[in-house]
Amino acid sequence: MARRRADNGPLAFSCDCKAVRGHLQAGAAARGVHAVCYCRDCRAAELWLGRPDPAPGPVDVFQTTPDMIRFQSGTDRLGLLRLSPKGLMRWYATCCNAPLFNTLASPRLPFAALHVARLDSPESVGPVRVHSFVPRPGGRSAHRGWGRMILRLVTGMGGARLSGRWRRTPFFDPDSGAPVAEATIPDKAARAALYSRAPGS
Ligand SMILES: [Zn+2]
Ligand SMILES: [Zn+2]
Repeated sequence: MARRRADNGPLAFSCDCKAVRGHLQAGAAARGVHAVCYCRDCRAAELWLGRPDPAPGPVDVFQTTPDMIRFQSGTDRLGLLRLSPKGLMRWYATCCNAPLFNTLASPRLPFAALHVARLDSPESVGPVRVHSFVPRPGGRSAHRGWGRMILRLVTGMGGARLSGRWRRTPFFDPDSGAPVAEATIPDKAARAALYSRAPGS
């Protein structure tokens, strides 16, 4: 089938002020998954960073593995937000508060989701394949495309694990496994304020 797929060259990314720069290595587009997430945590993270409220829309990310990520500059500007002590690790640029990547809490789980807006050419990761936590009437939510996402994630993460590529991550110290930045965890009151904010306020 001659359907045009994602661009398979290296994919450059940067924070808003360009102090943090890097790229995903060639081949990343074909192996990752373009996904959007409507969950409360992704929204709360945007609000904590002082970004425009994504609600009622989603947050747009490209899921890949950390060994595909190369930083050219600005690793000293990496900040780390966790909305709870065991929450997802949300990496952002301390220079301009641009959200960059989400990772799991251990380098042994090689997963990284890049905020698509950080890419020089966001269209290069192709169309959205996965829709997470889509609001439904009655306050429930639904997922679409998870079969594909899980297959790709397990294949990508499994490959990174078996080959030892999981050790190649910019987010964790290779020896201790500790994250390269200290996590900021909002206190209960700050969290409550983020989660209770009405859309558009
Ligand atoms: Zn910046
Ligand atoms: Zn989410």
